[in-house]
Amino acid sequence: MTDTTAEHLDLNDPLAHFRERFLMPQFEGRDAIYLTGNSLGLQPKTARQYINEELEDWATLGVEGHLHARHPWLPYHEFVTEPLARLVGAAPIEVVAMNSLTTNLHLLMTSFYRPSGKRKKIVIEKGAFPSDQYAVASQIAWHMGISPASPDALDHLIELSPRDGVSILRTDDIIETIEKNADEIALILLGGVNYYTGQAFDIRPITAAGHRAGAIVGLDLAHAAGNLKLTLHDDDVDFAAWCSYKYLNAGPGGIAGIFVHERHAHSFEIPRFAGWWGHDKAIRFQMGPNFVPLAGAEGWQLSNPPIFQLAALRASLEIFDEAGMPALRDRSVRLTTYMKQLLDEIDTDRIEIITPDDPEQRGCQLSIRVKNADRSLFNTISERGVIADWREPDVIRIAPVPLYNSFTDISRFARILRAALII
Ligand SMILES: *Cc1c(COP(=O)(O)O)cnc(C)c1O
Repeated sequence: MTDTTAEHLDLNDPLAHFRERFLMPQFEGRDAIYLTGNSLGLQPKTARQYINEELEDWATLGVEGHLHARHPWLPYHEFVTEPLARLVGAAPIEVVAMNSLTTNLHLLMTSFYRPSGKRKKIVIEKGAFPSDQYAVASQIAWHMGISPASPDALDHLIELSPRDGVSILRTDDIIETIEKNADEIALILLGGVNYYTGQAFDIRPITAAGHRAGAIVGLDLAHAAGNLKLTLHDDDVDFAAWCSYKYLNAGPGGIAGIFVHERHAHSFEIPRFAGWWGHDKAIRFQMGPNFVPLAGAEGWQLSNPPIFQLAALRASLEIFDEAGMPALRDRSVRLTTYMKQLLDEIDTDRIEIITPDDPEQRGCQLSIRVKNADRSLFNTISERGVIADWREPDVIRIAPVPLYNSFTDISRFARILRAALII
């Protein structure tokens, strides 16, 4: 395929104009080929304006901004609640923006990992993102009174591994592991999309299997929020957490989000770590001594939130709302299918795509395994204007993001990769 095809696809694409809403990094006087929105999403042009408004209101109003800013700070987190709920397929009471991802995983495990009797284990993917592995192991150690330095915590971990010779987990294997260990599993904590392979897990049947086993099911949606069309409420997931600097374009270290299923909204007996922002709003400023949690996800908040970060997230979520996740996901499938097609056409045995072929089993990312872990290929494409990422030991991750990547980006990338491989 040629660039003419890509240009034609771009011209006939009803969502192509959303690219104009973002600031694109430059390389040698033109747009870089930015394929790493799975690591850090691009800046919406409105983010600067929204943050500036808060700086101005702070300058002119001081503390009065809590009530009288154009977007008052006291309820500011509520401005992103409904867009977040739409994004992950939740009711507004089930979501809130707060803290950062690993912090939220800990807060949610404090509430939802409650080992007792024989039921103590946590199921995760082998090779889960390191922060998740550390969080899970330290939660086990903390709950069991084991030293965090001791390897004994790992005895309470069940790691899901692919079959020999493949990179991808099979849903029936995951369910079989859950069923085999049913009476020992306290919590299943899976990624929505695995950060390394790009595999999207089959959330509904896995959640159902977890519940049949009597376990709680939580998700890390770092690579799924803003990437897949999620239906967390209907899938009956107990809790989920995600960061917002990847597909959600809220900027480096941006404020994260959580989901807690509505059936836990009024379960005030669940253990939790409390702070004043999770306290009943109507009586928060009476400063009473006893914690009265808000119903739903808001009741897990600790602190008054960072307004500048929320402003950036608001800018991005407005664009998601305009485009709509179903339309974005359709476009995403078309972009990634096109990418896969162009990569398959390259006649080489130096690379192999480890992400599932079936669009239902992946998001936008493709993971390219480079034979012999030859990083020089990645270095070469980087020198030619591709911004992607290299994950040890041997993978280049590329993510055509439906909000701002084009078919032309993809064909330029494929051309550069082909040239680098053939030399
Ligand atoms: C990106 C990512 C993280 C990062 O955690 P932070 O707390 O935001 O630094 C954690 N887990 C997964 C699966 C990720 O993809």
